[in-house]
Amino acid sequence: MSERSVLMIYTGGTIGMVKGPRGYEPAPGRFMQMLQRIPSFQDPEQPPGVTPVSRHGQRIHYTMLEYQPLLDSSNMGMGDWVRIARDIERYYDDYDAFLVLHGTDTMAYTASALSFMLENLSKTVIVTGSQIPLSEVRNDGDDNLLDALLIAGHYDIPEVGLYFRSRLFRGNRTRKIDASGLEAFGSDNAPPLATVGIEIDIAWDTIRPPSGEPFRITPITNPNVATLRLFPGITDSILENFLRPPLAGLVLETYGAGNAPDNRANFLAALRAASERGVVIVNTTQCSRGEVVAAYAAGTALAEAGVVPGSDMTTEAALTKLAFLLSQDLEPAVVRRLMPESLRGELSNTTHEGRFGFQEKAFVNTVADALFARTPERRSEVEQALYPVLLCSAASLGDLKGLRRMYDGGADPTAADYDGRTALHLAAAEGHAEVVSFLIARGATVNAKDRWGATPLYDAVQNGHEDAADRLLEGGAEVSVDPAVLCTLASQGDSEGVHRWLKYGADPSTRDYDGRTPLHLAAVEGHLQTVRVLLDHGADRSARDRWGTTPADSAQAGGHRTVQTLLADG
Ligand code: ASP
Repeated sequence: MSERSVLMIYTGGTIGMVKGPRGYEPAPGRFMQMLQRIPSFQDPEQPPGVTPVSRHGQRIHYTMLEYQPLLDSSNMGMGDWVRIARDIERYYDDYDAFLVLHGTDTMAYTASALSFMLENLSKTVIVTGSQIPLSEVRNDGDDNLLDALLIAGHYDIPEVGLYFRSRLFRGNRTRKIDASGLEAFGSDNAPPLATVGIEIDIAWDTIRPPSGEPFRITPITNPNVATLRLFPGITDSILENFLRPPLAGLVLETYGAGNAPDNRANFLAALRAASERGVVIVNTTQCSRGEVVAAYAAGTALAEAGVVPGSDMTTEAALTKLAFLLSQDLEPAVVRRLMPESLRGELSNTTHEGRFGFQEKAFVNTVADALFARTPERRSEVEQALYPVLLCSAASLGDLKGLRRMYDGGADPTAADYDGRTALHLAAAEGHAEVVSFLIARGATVNAKDRWGATPLYDAVQNGHEDAADRLLEGGAEVSVDPAVLCTLASQGDSEGVHRWLKYGADPSTRDYDGRTPLHLAAVEGHLQTVRVLLDHGADRSARDRWGTTPADSAQAGGHRTVQTLLADG
């Protein structure tokens, strides 16, 4: 049996409310008592806050941090987001995972804001709540909370998730989509991170890998952001007023694939003027699914007015991301550059998208799970063992995307497998020149030697991949040729191989143990073409081996008259 600890930060919301004279209201101090009466939350043999052992052999210890006052989430503001982030920071080392119990009304905003503020997260953070209070006989709080607790208590999902009605979503992809139904949240542009049925099914390949950097928070402190949903007939003066100081960032919810009127000069001029003043304006769609694309003139006009595309971000994500970036000391131009880039998986189709489909991570995690490696240390051991193999296999397949994902996820560019073979060796041996350049740029060891002493350059040249070899030379590879290589190729009559090695700096007059040069060996076997190549590269035709024999003598001994003549001619 293993144990994990979870901190439940209870901020308020319907989940913990009880019926009072004016309707549902928060009930301070009662939540923990309610949980203790539910057998799945409390093992009767254990102290308060300990679950029974799960069927995966895990016991979860949970502690409740109850906010004062408990809030209906409609009353929450940026300060409340920061408070939650700071509490997670304060207790980060003390718990394995964190649950945030929260009202549903603004839950998607809080989850989005937390996803940005919590940087380099390596632990599971899940925001959840319910539509019907736990105090009611029929409620959805019981399941939502238990499932979220079980996920947090079993898995390392280094993201801010939002759990509702059998699905764990990436928090910054969610929206509250139903005011009355129990399936209150949707994530139309991103699949769930986990689905709970008979089994808990974690979609490991959709989960972002931890960065490996130390956890920290960057609080949201700039409140001067807003959203504006366009509607047909919005007047220029309303827009101009909206854009006035102190506004620093605006999420403009446009029509369809990112369109706004392009036949109204004043409307566009107001946006342009605001952009020039430094207001960052982001274009998101009013549709719940799909993204802003540059397909229509009506959308292009916005881009020309300085409005940046927000891809498929939700309004909640775009607004909190704007506030997050504008809370840092960044130039508007930098904020504009970062808005269309994915920072926490909040949007698709960016140049960094590869980072967010971490298939290798999924594999590593599956192996780690199979080995019951649940602690970060044990996982990291599994990673250390598997990454070199995965890197080498991606490199030999020329899978640049996979390599990029792994390096972005923190894999070591100098990692070698048990034979000392690095990704660079494999890419070179297979002639994947692009991959070779990529690996060198990422800090691979250019002259790494495997257990047989072969370098990547050796592999590239030996396998006839001149493009890869050239890139290695540009990257600083040193030529060091085992004399036996040239001698072997010469005696086999591999004139191309010999030519290649000479081109890459091998010495044509190198000698074997008996003082024989490649020319002796090619001559004795009668390899005319190889002899020519060697002579063209300045091989010494008068070299004598330990018995005083010249290459011409060797040709004669082998009965190769043409070769003998050629050698004698010089
Ligand atoms: N008004 C409540 C809140 O957001 C609704 C809920 O919790 O579901 O706090």
